[in-house]
Amino acid sequence: MALEKINTSICIIGAGPAGTSTSIFLSKLGIKHIIVDSANFPRKKVCGDGLDLKSLRMLNHIDPKIIPNELLNTPDFTPSWGFRIISPKGVNSDFILNPEKGYEKRVPFIVSKRIIFDNFLIKKLDSSTADFRQGTKITSISKEGETWTLKASTADSELTITCKLIVGADGDHSTVLKHLGDRKVNRRHYIGSVRQYWKNVSGMSNHNLLEIYYPKNLPMSYFWIFPLSNGEANVGYAITNEIAKNFNLNIRETFKEIIEKDPAISHRFKDATPIAELEGMGIPVASLQRKVVGNGWILVGDAASMASPTSGEGIGTGMMTGYIAAKFIEKGIKANDFSEVVIGNYSREIFKRMKLEIRNYNLSLKYPFIANLVANYLIGNNFISRFIVNYKFRGLLKTCYEKEVEVELE
Ligand SMILES: Cc1cc2nc3c(=O)[nH]c(=O)nc-3n(C[C@H](O)[C@H](O)[C@H](O)COP(=O)(O)OP(=O)(O)OC[C@H]3O[C@@H](n4cnc5c(N)ncnc54)[C@H](O)[C@@H]3O)c2cc1C
Repeated sequence: MALEKINTSICIIGAGPAGTSTSIFLSKLGIKHIIVDSANFPRKKVCGDGLDLKSLRMLNHIDPKIIPNELLNTPDFTPSWGFRIISPKGVNSDFILNPEKGYEKRVPFIVSKRIIFDNFLIKKLDSSTADFRQGTKITSISKEGETWTLKASTADSELTITCKLIVGADGDHSTVLKHLGDRKVNRRHYIGSVRQYWKNVSGMSNHNLLEIYYPKNLPMSYFWIFPLSNGEANVGYAITNEIAKNFNLNIRETFKEIIEKDPAISHRFKDATPIAELEGMGIPVASLQRKVVGNGWILVGDAASMASPTSGEGIGTGMMTGYIAAKFIEKGIKANDFSEVVIGNYSREIFKRMKLEIRNYNLSLKYPFIANLVANYLIGNNFISRFIVNYKFRGLLKTCYEKEVEVELE
C-alpha cells in the first residue's frame, strides 16, 4: 500500500457546504490548504434540499453571477418564489414574493438535491490553492505541541497530514468532535428528521412554493413538501428529539401517518408515489452554543451544531460559518498564531447572527404548547403574517442580494 506524507498549515476535514465554503473563501484570500472528504463526489446527503436566504447570500459572496447565470437556467435547481403554510384544517396561506421590477432574478429560495448542489460547490474549489482529496477518510487525530497529525486512508493508500490548524467540517458525526471528546447528542438541541422523494404530489403551486405544515398537537415539529423539477418533491418531517421522546413518538411512523391519514395532507398524496427510500438523520442545532473554537481548531457547519434551531436549515449557516472561519484563519496566518487568543472571537461572530433564533427556540422548549399556540395564531393571522412577509422578508431579500456579511475580528 502506498504511503504519502503532506505538511500544510491548514487542513479542512469534510467537503459538505461548510467545508467547501471554508475552502472557497480561503482561496479568495490566497491561502493554501488541503481539504479532504471520505466520500467520492457526487455523494448523497439526507436533507430537505432547500436553499434559504443565508445559502443564497453565501452563493452571492462566492460570485454574484452564480444564481442568475448558473442556477436559474437548469432544471437541477428549482427556483421557489415564496412559501405556503398549511393550517391543521388544510387551508393554504400562500406568501408569494413576486420579484420587483428590475430584480426578476432575485429568487428567495432554491431547491436542489444535495447530490447535485454539493457537487456544484465542489466544482467551485480553486485547485491553485486548495488540494482536494476525495475518498480520503480521516481515521485518527493527535496533537503534539502545536502540530496536528492526521492519519487518513483511501482505497489504495495511507496518508499522513501534519498541520497547524484543523477545520472540523465533517458533519453531525464529526471525527474531530469525537477527538475533542465533545460528540454527545443533547436531545434538547437535536432535531430528528426524515425525508423521502415523491412524484406527483397534487396541488403544488405554480410558484414552486416551499410548503410547511405544523401538525396541531405536535409542538416543535413540522412536515414539509419542497418542489423539485419533473413533478418530484422532497417530502419530510422534523421534530425536536426531546419532544419526540416525551410523546413516545416514532418519527418514521408519524411521517407515514401524516401522509396516509392527516386530513390536511393525505388528499395531496392520493395519486402520488414514493420514488426512493424513506431516510432519516439528525440535525444538531445552534441553541446548544457548543464550544466551536480552540487552540489550533475551528468547527464549522453541523460539526459546530450550527443548524437553525427554528427551521432546521443548516446549509446556509454552514456556509456562513465557513465564510467567517476563513476570515479568522487569515487573522491567525498574519499573526503566525492559531491559538484561541487570536481566533477565539470566531465563536462570538457566528452566534451573534443566530441570537433571535436561539432565544425563540429556547423559549419554545420551556413552553412548547404555548409556543405552538402562538405560532399557529401568528401564522393564521392574515394581517400579521402578510406584514412579516412584505416588510421583514423583503428586507432580508434585499440584504441577501446587496449586503456583505461584516466580520469583526477583534
Ligand atoms: C432530513 C433533513 C432535512 C434537512 N433539510 C434542510 C434544508 O432543507 N435546508 C437546509 O439548509 N438544511 C437542511 N438540513 C440540514 C443540512 O443537511 C445540514 O445542516 C448540512 O448538510 C450541514 O453541512 P455540513 O457541510 O456541515 O455537513 P455535511 O453536509 O454533513 O458534510 C460533512 C462531510 O464530511 C465528510 N466526513 C465525515 N467524516 C469524515 C471523515 N472522518 N473524514 C473525511 N471526511 C468526513 C462527509 O463525507 C461529508 O461530505 C436537513 C437535514 C436533515 C437531516
